[in-house]
This record gives sequence, structure tokens and C-alpha cells, in this order.
Amino acid sequence: MQDDLPTFGPRKKLIKFLAQKVIKGAKISNAPVSLQRVIEHLQTMHDLDVQKITAGDKVSGLLVVCKEVDSEYSTIGFNGNHPWCRRRFTIAHEIGHLLLGHGCNKSMDDDSLNETEANQFAAELLVPQSFLKKDFAQTPNIQDLAKLYRVSEQAITIKVMGSRLL
Ligand SMILES: [Zn+2]
Repeated sequence: MQDDLPTFGPRKKLIKFLAQKVIKGAKISNAPVSLQRVIEHLQTMHDLDVQKITAGDKVSGLLVVCKEVDSEYSTIGFNGNHPWCRRRFTIAHEIGHLLLGHGCNKSMDDDSLNETEANQFAAELLVPQSFLKKDFAQTPNIQDLAKLYRVSEQAITIKVMGSRLL
């Protein structure tokens, strides 16, 4: 299948590649994707810390990257008041920002594109397409799949429809 990369819009191939690389590197082969293992794997390459933050409901999470002359360290914060599956998505989303190299100096347009890319990364990390194909064949039920993958039913629905499994 020939698939020309658009000049605008999310970098779908790169996003999928990066998510798959992390899954492989963390030696994860089935759902639910263990974010603990993902983070431990990333910590072998990045100086990364993940912390619970207390914030208003509108804040899901944030990524702070500190660059120094000879080092770089990053902190992901997630809203500890949010339900578990939302926190998982938030952390995966912030990992997406980190790995996709979303910088600090960007326009508003870039901003929403970066958000889209980070969301796509999170969806692919938590619900890898190759896992979903196999699991959907056995369990063609959105509710059960959401429980299995520990994500929202909405996230599963988007992935199932995007993968043309229905
Ligand atoms: Zn974001």
C-alpha cells in the first residue's frame, strides 16, 4: 500500500513506529500494557521521573523537559484525582510528547497538532493494533476490551473503528 505522508497532520507512521518500539523494548506482549514497565524501559534511556500532582480537574498532566549543557531530564506529572484509566492515558500522552520531541517554542497551530500526535501515540501505546486484532477476534465486545486494556470504552471504540475491526 502506498501511503504518501501529508505535509500537514499527525505523523502517523512515526507515531506507530515509536509506540511499537517502546512496547518491544519493554518486552510487553499482551494487554494490559504495563506503564510501570514502559516507564522503567524509558528510564534506561532518559532521565525521567513520573509524579502525581494535585491540580484542578481541567489539568490532566504535563511534561517538563529541562535541558542543560550536557544533560537533559524530564518529569511527567499526572492528576492524581482523575480515575485510573484516565491517568494511564495521561501518562501515555505525556510520554508521546517526550518521544515525539515536542518542543517549547511552538505556535498555537502546532500546539493542537502536538496534542493530536500525543493522543495517537497514547492510543497506540495502550492499545497496540497488533494486540487488538488478536483480542478482538476472541472478545468482540467493547466493554470487555476496555476492561482488559484498562482504558476507557471511548478509547477502545476509536481504536476498533480506526483498525476497521467492526
Ligand atoms: Zn498534551
